[in-house]
Amino acid sequence: MKTLFTNATFWSSGSPVFSSMLVENEKIIAVGKKAIEQKYDKVVDLNGTFVMPAFADGHAHPLFAGREMLGPQVNGLQSVGEIVAEVARFAKANPDEEWIIGGAYEAAIVEQGDFDAHWLDEAVSDRPVVLHAVDHHTVWVNSKALELSGITTATKNPDGGTIARREDGSPKGTLREPTAIGLVTGNTPKRTMKNEIQALVLACDALLKVGITSAVDAWIEPGMAEVYIEAAKAGKLSVDMSLCFLAVAGQWEENVSYHKELRAQIEALPKSANLEAKTIKFLLDGALSSGTAALMDPYLDDPTTSGLLMWEEDDLLNALCIFDDLDFQVHLHAIGDAAVRQALDAIEAMQRVNPSRDRRPVIAHAQLIHPDDFARFARLGVIANYQPLWTYLDPMNKELILPRLGQERNNRQYPLRTMLDAGVMISYGSDWPVTSHVPLQALAVPVHRQSPDGFPAEGWSKHEAITIEESMTFYTRNVAYQNFNDERLGRLEVGMRADFLVLRENPLTSRLHSVRDIAIESLYRNGLPLPL
Ligand SMILES: [Zn+2]
Repeated sequence: MKTLFTNATFWSSGSPVFSSMLVENEKIIAVGKKAIEQKYDKVVDLNGTFVMPAFADGHAHPLFAGREMLGPQVNGLQSVGEIVAEVARFAKANPDEEWIIGGAYEAAIVEQGDFDAHWLDEAVSDRPVVLHAVDHHTVWVNSKALELSGITTATKNPDGGTIARREDGSPKGTLREPTAIGLVTGNTPKRTMKNEIQALVLACDALLKVGITSAVDAWIEPGMAEVYIEAAKAGKLSVDMSLCFLAVAGQWEENVSYHKELRAQIEALPKSANLEAKTIKFLLDGALSSGTAALMDPYLDDPTTSGLLMWEEDDLLNALCIFDDLDFQVHLHAIGDAAVRQALDAIEAMQRVNPSRDRRPVIAHAQLIHPDDFARFARLGVIANYQPLWTYLDPMNKELILPRLGQERNNRQYPLRTMLDAGVMISYGSDWPVTSHVPLQALAVPVHRQSPDGFPAEGWSKHEAITIEESMTFYTRNVAYQNFNDERLGRLEVGMRADFLVLRENPLTSRLHSVRDIAIESLYRNGLPLPL
């Protein structure tokens, strides 16, 4: 079955545009003039619309997002009162849920981000409540959750984590970083496979709806890959997924064989399962908003600290070398300039120790980078994975990060233009559900670097702005490259899979602030239209 798609502007990640495309089954077999010269069975007139490769999300957390979709819907709420009301509504509607778990709340609506357990107690006091903050490095819990987890005045801060306290030293209800969060989440009931698959299906549907047909799950803890495998076997994985297994400092060695075993299980699935697991994720630091990102110079609000590096240098290098030797790609979360430096140092050392090969290491977020390090990304072939929606002076940057970093360092965040000029490969990820997964909402932000209502007028550190075409390429071709899928996804070329989007307007010629409103007319995956 050959279908000719015609009468549209076809954009293929930066190559010259063309106006027709011939698709046979799931593949593109001709473009431009060559497409109309051939015989076809069916023609689809696209009415002057714009066609581009489907989006790919290079750093997201689909299963976490799906789980959140099953809980109270607190995302985007702008006051404590609204959040508490939503938790109360959910608790009433779900009387059988033993634990009420949800996210993600906006931490910037409360000064310092310290939320009080008593506020949640007003909604629910007889059952534990755990809400994740949008940074996913923080939770807010009610008194029942503190009580069931045995967190009291006497509980010390665990290594690498903090328990926010009242004046009298009693726990306030906000916990930061995995070790502290784990004190509570370690007690939550085990999720059932049925529930987990339900969450994953919701996440896949949400991704398709906004034009994403492939995504990276950048945080796979034990038990999560099993959900993806079951969903794939049941034919319920409707988005191509690349999984990153989480390696935890000091504990990673005990999981090496487990990761290998799960990768082998995934590789044994039929190709149509759309599942891959060839990456190991390393968390090097925390987040700037919570003062846990690792900086070269101290935080201004608390000069006794410059954040936390979660890995000892030797342990990190050892882990990188071992996983790299097993043919895993490495994907490192590094936000502060000290963490980015540590990531580059470790990758450089790894490449010196292990034989050379095509490894495509990734540093995700890379928010603050020391000027000496820009060129090192390019030299080492490190892909910088950025979150385009974060590249403006949003409330988090303004209220939580600016006071901690000071003006000069704050304004040096997200140096996309400098990175490009240094020859660095940039790819995009949404970090959903930390922030919105909708690519069209984010696409123009690194171009204007303004808030949705156009502030500041000149754009935030405007010299770091990129073009809309570069931005579109980072959300398509470059993510495919990051995932070693560049020979089948991310471009509209002969031999590639026919995953494409039909947009009502052309983002290349639209007003920048209108790009987020462009309607998706249709989405094709494997050559087939999907219901939107
Ligand atoms: Zn993430």
